Amino acid sequence: MAASSARAALTSIPLFHEKLRKSNRILAVCGAGLSAASGLPTFRGAGGLWRNHNAVDLATPEAFDADPGLVWLFYAYRRHMALNVKPNPAHYALAELARKKPGFRCLSQNVDNLHVRAHHPPSQLSLLHGSLFSLKCTTCPWTDPYNTADPLCPALAPAAESSPDPTKPLPLLDPSQPLADIKESELPHCPDCKKELVRPGVVWFGEMLDEQMLEDIDEWIEQEPVDMVLVIGTSSFVYPAAGYAERARTEGRTSVVTVNLEITGKDWESMAEGDFGFEGDASLLLPELLGPVIGEVKGEEEG
Ligand SMILES: [Zn+2]
Repeated sequence: MAASSARAALTSIPLFHEKLRKSNRILAVCGAGLSAASGLPTFRGAGGLWRNHNAVDLATPEAFDADPGLVWLFYAYRRHMALNVKPNPAHYALAELARKKPGFRCLSQNVDNLHVRAHHPPSQLSLLHGSLFSLKCTTCPWTDPYNTADPLCPALAPAAESSPDPTKPLPLLDPSQPLADIKESELPHCPDCKKELVRPGVVWFGEMLDEQMLEDIDEWIEQEPVDMVLVIGTSSFVYPAAGYAERARTEGRTSVVTVNLEITGKDWESMAEGDFGFEGDASLLLPELLGPVIGEVKGEEEG
């Protein structure tokens, strides 16, 4: 195929629709771009700063040990932000695809709870990095799977404020404004062991993903060939999407479909025949791409 007609095949919506209709075993891997379409800052990627801290440096067990008040403020702020945005049409489209295609499984790196709020069937959703709205004890097995208190405790109230002057950044986000020193005794403590601090139920850098969840995903991938891998809001050439796309690919059968705000020249070159790439906002693209299977979806949260 000439380069131009190869590219045309990669971006053809009718060809994608044809493949989608025939696909039963579909895996989606979702990344930060999906939540960005809801207006949520992601703090990921190069230079993602929160106050004057590199956000990546705050998302470690070491940072929590060193300054649990600061790390909790960062997470309390992210909880507050996530509660104040809504699932977008892409979340609803994926949830509907799960209802229409029982062989669809969605893996998401996002911790913002937006898939759950869009009623994605829980048995077809794996939250790879946990959730901002689950809590766990730093030491004993206690967990609270769903807690949306905002603020979580009085000491974390600065993270749940709205800006007194909308033209200025929230004092919490302005590194020139000092933070109140939060004592450990003011942070939530485990109701079970009554001794240790409670921490966010997310996977931090340097921590392992849930072993049982990973085993279940592996088992699903190995059961039968996968017809389609949808990579949404992240590149299909970076971890973990790249790993899943590679493992799920059966030559000549599996289409890897990238839906992302930006698809690089190198990404296009790396695509195989039968793959697809759609560049743009996932919240606009997914309802159109999945339309022939899901119909017109009016997403609404329950009251
Ligand atoms: Zn405990």
